[in-house]
Amino acid sequence: ATPMSIISGVGRAAEFGVLVRDADALQQASTLDTLVFDKTGTLTEGQPRVVEIITFDPVNEQQALRWAAALEQGASHPLARAIVEHANGQILPQVEQFRTLRGSGVSGEVEGVPLLLGNAKLLQENRVTVSHELDALVQQQAERGITPVLLAANGEPVALFAIRDPLRSDSVSALQRLHRQGYQLVMLTGDNPITANAIAKEAGIDRVIAGVLPDGKAEAIKQLQAQGHRVAMVGDGINDAPALAQADVGIAMGSGSDIAIETAAITLMRHSLNGVADALALSKATLRNMK
Ligand code: ADP
Ligand code: MG
Repeated sequence: ATPMSIISGVGRAAEFGVLVRDADALQQASTLDTLVFDKTGTLTEGQPRVVEIITFDPVNEQQALRWAAALEQGASHPLARAIVEHANGQILPQVEQFRTLRGSGVSGEVEGVPLLLGNAKLLQENRVTVSHELDALVQQQAERGITPVLLAANGEPVALFAIRDPLRSDSVSALQRLHRQGYQLVMLTGDNPITANAIAKEAGIDRVIAGVLPDGKAEAIKQLQAQGHRVAMVGDGINDAPALAQADVGIAMGSGSDIAIETAAITLMRHSLNGVADALALSKATLRNMK
């Protein structure tokens, strides 16, 4: 039989805007030592904006934006939304042979020009030469917590889109609370390691696992578990569902994808990491009362 105090703990959690699936979820939550956070949309606002466009001759800013926005119209990534929004109102050219390259970018042909848009790794994998100057520029942006997205036309880099997705206003204080509760805090992201580390430093996160392909997120959780950790995964996206399922406790941020919410043991109704601190404190208090 489920002890009465756990049932009342589940009920009390709801008053905090924390939906706990069942008594077992609350029990599992009381045993964690490591919390893994998806970056985009969980630690950050998840609404990235283009803050700067740097172009290389002979392509100008307007041309680069038209091409990039045309490509990104077919993608659903938050970075794609940022670029399309930045071009708002413009009539965009048609795209032939559009492809999404999961975890790295998009490609297609616009006005007879073959285009590639994504991270530096994507360009390099497609034999686009990234010069030392461009690489230094990419690094400089990334060190400021910016995600650099590169556009190549005809196999040559022609533009860099500097895209910024700030931390949620209450992320830092919520993470401080979780630190005081004694958890190891980990960021898990497909973004590049330099940008990820810059944002992690700002957030007060201990450890970064970056450059992870969408399918690699669950594997990263498994590895932490193999090292003896009891792991919660906090995420909001469709990509996060396998990692939420692999974790000892999956925590979905409310207003995230339906798949994430279905998979999670705990769902936060408020879109705030303070809900994680509330939920875990409550799970411990409830289990302590039973002893
Ligand atoms: P995350 O959800 O953590 O951002 P993803 O695997 O979705 O991770 O993306 C990893 C990286 O691939 C992004 O940081 C970006 O550099 C690149 N990328 C993915 N999709 C796109 C896109 N549509 N346009 C530009 N870059 C993209
Ligand atoms: Mg996400």
